[in-house]
Amino acid sequence: MTFRALVARETEGGYNVAAEELQDSNLQAGEVVVDVALSSLNYKDALAVAKRGRIIRRFPMVLGIDLAGTVASSDTAEFSPGDLVLGTGQGLGESDWGGYTQRQRVRADAIVKIPQGMTVEQAMQLGTAGITAMLCVLALERNNVVPNDKEVVVTGAAGGVGSIAVLLLATLGYRVAASTGRPELADYLRGLGATTIVPREELAKEGAPMQKERWAGGVDTVGGPTLANVFAQTAYEGAVASCGMAGGHELHTTVWPLILRNVSILGVSSLRTPKPLRNEAWERLARDIDAAKLAGLSATEPLSRIHELSEEILAGRIRGRTVIDVHR
Ligand code: NDP
Repeated sequence: MTFRALVARETEGGYNVAAEELQDSNLQAGEVVVDVALSSLNYKDALAVAKRGRIIRRFPMVLGIDLAGTVASSDTAEFSPGDLVLGTGQGLGESDWGGYTQRQRVRADAIVKIPQGMTVEQAMQLGTAGITAMLCVLALERNNVVPNDKEVVVTGAAGGVGSIAVLLLATLGYRVAASTGRPELADYLRGLGATTIVPREELAKEGAPMQKERWAGGVDTVGGPTLANVFAQTAYEGAVASCGMAGGHELHTTVWPLILRNVSILGVSSLRTPKPLRNEAWERLARDIDAAKLAGLSATEPLSRIHELSEEILAGRIRGRTVIDVHR
């Protein structure tokens, strides 16, 4: 069977990314063959497509860190033909062939069943961004950051992870402050449930290591001085889930919030999440996400536009989530 995939092939001094026709016999080892319906666009996908950053660990590589579709065949009892499945991270598009393809053979460990009540489309409206936002919420919950009068701040709020974090937290009853560099998206963020809009510059400038206790907690997708400020502004016993670096990977701060306010910085990575936690996060997403608002924050684009879309997301111009139709 022949199908189309987006393949990165090494060249002298770099690599090329182009659509290719592949066959089942080309696929890598793995227990489950998936007829892929949809993938999605994440910041990391864009870095790989646009050849920025070192995302790809071996060549040739089928790009795309997310995939969703139907099991075509399976060598393990865990999955049966016809099962609806999704994969996010776990090496897809980095060390294992990923989701920008109409068919893929994957390790059984890389995929989970799509929860009851969730569609393939919703699974990719969420994708890596969605599970990451949910893992941030779970981390805050486990650190007893529960809804109260103080707001939880979400940075990079109009992006993929940010938009879903705002929606999830608001649906769960938290008061949410959304920090964005795009004031024109204030109404969009209020529509997702944000109570306050915080201009990006307010958190991005250098600040004191201890500041007025402003937040019950935070979900930070930006890093750099923004994370340092959120940390310095988090109230006693609060916690900040740090999952991104859209504004920088460095973190200059002090121990003061840790040792005087019991504030925690919680590291969140969706890359190697153990399967039980992945399943828990997807079950929670199926239960807690507002499907209509999720559809409203998502757009669907053809794989044929992936190069332009990658430039757009890296320039910070994409709002919410982009589902990638691998058949167009
Ligand atoms: P998006 O591009 O969709 O969102 C990033 C948002 O960050 C932008 O929309 C913008 O929000 C804000 N932003 C962009 N550039 C800057 C800047 N220079 N300074 C401050 N803010 C900026 O990306 P994703 O949501 O897919 O990913 C966000 C981050 O999270 C990335 O760093 C990504 O690598 C990381 N990530 C980590 C995961 C993990 O497992 N830990 C998983 C998924 C993503 P606004 O316009 O509202 O200001």
